[in-house]
Amino acid sequence: MTGLRLAEKVAVITGGASGIGLATARRFLDEGAKVLIGDYNEASIDTALQALAAGDDVAALRVDVAQESDVARLMQTAVDRWGRLDIAFNNAGITGALGPIMEIEADHWDASFAVMARGVFLGTKHAARIMAPQGGGAIVNTASIAGLAGGVIPTVYSATKAAVVSLTRNAANELAQYRIRVNAVCPGIIFTPLMHSGREDEALATARQVQPWPDAGTPEHVASAVLYLASDEAAFVTGEAHVVDGGYLANGLLRV
Ligand code: NAD
Repeated sequence: MTGLRLAEKVAVITGGASGIGLATARRFLDEGAKVLIGDYNEASIDTALQALAAGDDVAALRVDVAQESDVARLMQTAVDRWGRLDIAFNNAGITGALGPIMEIEADHWDASFAVMARGVFLGTKHAARIMAPQGGGAIVNTASIAGLAGGVIPTVYSATKAAVVSLTRNAANELAQYRIRVNAVCPGIIFTPLMHSGREDEALATARQVQPWPDAGTPEHVASAVLYLASDEAAFVTGEAHVVDGGYLANGLLRV
């Protein structure tokens, strides 16, 4: 396994049955990691395991990242199965309620925060509890450029992603003493089932108005950044919100 960027590493990926999480699982496996996928969609898990041609180096658990007992069980299962936990990619997400602020129900706010802020907090907490006594590890949390600037996606989603960026920076400060790096990846417009299912032409036309780079963003673009942040090549990188957006932020977030 020498020469591979994640040789002998054990990784957990939440939301790993689709989109960015699935592309990252594939990339991690190609680089020699053992991968445990946590996802709440059983049908997607079955399809993902088939797509990954699952062998002994990949497994999956049905979990809800908003439930603390599920997240603790997920992280511990990686240790029970492969003896350690080196990488946690806290990535599960939903679109949630996208309406204007005067119409958002408080329950919809809570439901979005439960998955994307509470879920990332729980993943960071329970991964760190294992990584600290082990001597270190790498945590990557999925935020969004919507967590770095206003006007990308309506309020609730963006607020959850701003929470992820803040959590990441503070956890990076706190966990450095244990040699645990914590970074966020901030995708722009990425063609996955979450955002654009069935509306690819419309989404690409929208993307071209705000994003200078001519090609559509893909899950593989994000997976490459996650691989870097999770690997030892990023050994001195922590507390970073790493943007993967084809220049959308650099373009001054033009509204369409
Ligand atoms: P996706 O829908 O393809 O994948 C999300 C996965 O998360 C699904 O498999 C889903 O079953 C799982 N999931 C949702 N809620 C869960 C829960 N409570 N517990 C466990 N699993 C759960 O979407 P994606 O685009 O790959 O999204 C991945 C992450 O990237 C999300 O956090 C999303 O907010 C973020 N993101 C996406 C884009 C984009 O344009 N696609 C842009 C910025 C950020």
